[in-house]
Amino acid sequence: MSLNLYDTMAREKRPFVPVDPKRVTMYVCGPTVYNYAHIGNARPVVVFDVLFRLLRHTYGEEAVLYAANVTDVDDKINAKAQAEGVEIDVITQRYLDIYNRDMATLGALAPTFQPRATQTMDAIIEMIGRLVDKGAAYAAEGHVLFSTESYPDYGQLSGRSLDDMIAGARVDVAPYKRNAADFVLWKPSKPGEPVWDSPWGPGRPGWHIECSAMIEQTLGLPIDIHGGGNDLIFPHHENELAQGVCAAHGCEAGHGGDYARYWMHNGFLNFGSEKMSKSLGNVVLVHDLVAQTPGEAVRWALLVGHYRAPQEWSGELLEQARKSLDRLYGALRRCADVTASTDAPSSKFLAALEDDLNTAQAMAELFALASTIETGDDEARAQAKGELLASGALMGFLQADPEAWFQGGADPELKARVEALIAERIAARTAKDWPRADAIRDELNALNVVVMDSADGATWRLREPSSSED
Ligand code: AMP
Ligand code: ZN
Repeated sequence: MSLNLYDTMAREKRPFVPVDPKRVTMYVCGPTVYNYAHIGNARPVVVFDVLFRLLRHTYGEEAVLYAANVTDVDDKINAKAQAEGVEIDVITQRYLDIYNRDMATLGALAPTFQPRATQTMDAIIEMIGRLVDKGAAYAAEGHVLFSTESYPDYGQLSGRSLDDMIAGARVDVAPYKRNAADFVLWKPSKPGEPVWDSPWGPGRPGWHIECSAMIEQTLGLPIDIHGGGNDLIFPHHENELAQGVCAAHGCEAGHGGDYARYWMHNGFLNFGSEKMSKSLGNVVLVHDLVAQTPGEAVRWALLVGHYRAPQEWSGELLEQARKSLDRLYGALRRCADVTASTDAPSSKFLAALEDDLNTAQAMAELFALASTIETGDDEARAQAKGELLASGALMGFLQADPEAWFQGGADPELKARVEALIAERIAARTAKDWPRADAIRDELNALNVVVMDSADGATWRLREPSSSED
């Protein structure tokens, strides 16, 4: 089988064929860095990380270029900087560092490029100039606007017509707009906001143009895959596409595929049947979650459902994710003495991911491999162990030492208690206080902890609930 991806533009699954298999390119719209990321923001990161890994597996690690940008010019960043009385880059660098650490905890590989709007300003201004020269944009009252009428294919990605958009536009359309649907490429900065010089006066870029300029600068057109959450289809990606095509080719119709060849959008993560959003105040922060739960379990929870479907976030979802990983790490622990006979993922696992990232089916295949490890003959176990580790790696799972997983799976309080009891038990044994040492062993047993004594001291692990070993 080969890779098929659902393309938002075509509205169907299509076989994936890159422009150049030696240089496969993907761009995903990243966060605005002014606060901690919520778990919804992590969904595109984890989903497109799976795709990144799959592409690397297929085309070779060096052949895949993945750019995930950071928006570091924004009203919310300005507001936060003003509130704290610092420069904006103090805010953006702080939250970018936290974001990168938190996403690494979720097992996301670092993208090849992480371009930032503030570091792309020359390319942004140059691109706006090209749009003005081609008659696709016009300057008015210190602003530069994209002229949606100049691009006959406008609306192609989201399936909206320009007439509908004009009819739906709010009544208070800015007077300098020729058409209600026209959008900002450049605008004057308000007092106290960061400002850059441009041929149209001092100011700052609009949001959409940043991504188009970063794509041209880091990857070049056309890119193979453009991704993001489905809230970005309109207006962000529609506008990116229009200005990207017009700047590169001119505005005539028929160039829609020359910007990005496949558009992919993840569904939203909801919380209590509402969309998780900072303005609704119902956010769960990744930073808080990974302080209490292994990042791998959070990652699993984010991949249980199909990436295009909406997903409800809940404590039970996370608990279930942890149990699933207990089951798989338990199987790996029970075949610690088996030498894997392959380092390739199973073909069924690969086929599931290649079917538009069917992660649920891929996970079912991981469980099937775990069953083979438990019930198969020696040859089958050696094969299944290798396939489970390689398949897990391809999805960003199962790379920890199984013993470490079962310790890491213990909550910090339990962990501290177990470690104190073990230290006490060592002291009791050194003092030859055998009754005390035995009592501590019973206490640990009651906590579901198995202690393994060795020449170098003692190690411990939790029994997984499904296991019947004593
Ligand atoms: P933002 O910082 O809001 O611009 O979002 C960064 C990325 O996260 C974008 O690709 C959004 O589409 C995506 N995103 C934001 N909120 C959610 C959510 N609740 N569920 C899934 N994706 C989201
Ligand atoms: Zn973008």
